[in-house]
Amino acid sequence: MAEQKDTSAYWGDTHQHSDVSPCGGPEGKLSPAETFALMRDEYRHDFLFLTDHDQAIHDEQWEEIKAAAESETRPGTFSAFPGYEFTTEIFGHYNVFWKDGTAESVVIRTGDKPLVFGRRHPRELLQRLEPFADRVVVSACHPAMDACPNTWRVRHPLLRLAELCYAGGTFEAREAPLAIPGKARLYVQDALISGHRVSFIGGTDTHKLRSTGQEFHSLTGILAAENTPEALFAALKAGRTCAAVKCRTEVDLSISGTPMGGACSFTLDTMEEMFPLEIRAAIRPTVPLTHVELIHNGEVMDRKTFQSQETEPLTFSYTYENPYIWNSFTNCYDHFFYLRVRHEHGAIAFSSPVWVLFHAPGE
Ligand SMILES: [Zn+2]
Ligand SMILES: [Zn+2]
Repeated sequence: MAEQKDTSAYWGDTHQHSDVSPCGGPEGKLSPAETFALMRDEYRHDFLFLTDHDQAIHDEQWEEIKAAAESETRPGTFSAFPGYEFTTEIFGHYNVFWKDGTAESVVIRTGDKPLVFGRRHPRELLQRLEPFADRVVVSACHPAMDACPNTWRVRHPLLRLAELCYAGGTFEAREAPLAIPGKARLYVQDALISGHRVSFIGGTDTHKLRSTGQEFHSLTGILAAENTPEALFAALKAGRTCAAVKCRTEVDLSISGTPMGGACSFTLDTMEEMFPLEIRAAIRPTVPLTHVELIHNGEVMDRKTFQSQETEPLTFSYTYENPYIWNSFTNCYDHFFYLRVRHEHGAIAFSSPVWVLFHAPGE
């Protein structure tokens, strides 16, 4: 029997371009409204964040993108969101996701000459988004990609998401399954180890939808109670996401009641109550799975192997009763846990992390 849940995963893409983006020429491209409609009617996505390159978006085109998001949304079935890809030459790319297409949703332009090398800094973008903090969230795009890696120079509460799944592979870690070759030390795990708190999403980054198709698609699953722009955006902003390549396997994780995307914290005084940690996993595979791995601070802490062809929902829990918690949990202050689910034929899916944070005396 499947466990009764009040949320389920809605699947869609958080990185797509329309004919507003000039790269690669005009062939095979669709207008913003056509791109939303294709995702809804042919790819059967539950939502789409359209993310054209910001330096190319003129004011009238931004109005067109916002109007398309509104007209192509079908409450209960498909949520269309406006967004853009803040594009820098040396600090990487950042997708800016807006809650809806109302007047406050704007394109923040930074740098006196946007295309001059090195003039655009993500810190300025994030600071200028602060007045809109309840209606915007930002992701680090294709983090370790050779051509334009994310340098992880900026920490900011609005930088809440990272594109772990990308096109046909992952930017989880350099030696991880399905890893896209790229820059060492700029993978998502490197960022988590250095203290960034980002949830995981998947994006396809197709610039020519009609000519390339989406056979290696990466998608984001947002765990929400219903498919409306309001519900999906709130869950995305809270980091209640999973990320997947070539499947739509929902992967959910909680630790002692804290949902994924969240953090629980303890001090020396509350440590006894905090442990043992109760780590709960809930997985709904869409293709046969082969391994479920629990990752703790970048290491595989537990691996379960599956031979069956089953795609039945699974739930299980781990009890973390480390007798050495005094050392292992206080020497390293920020702990992150997430699930990596591997399937046949190279499909892969991830939960977002849950953090367990230690606050030392005097800090
Ligand atoms: Zn990009
Ligand atoms: Zn892009």
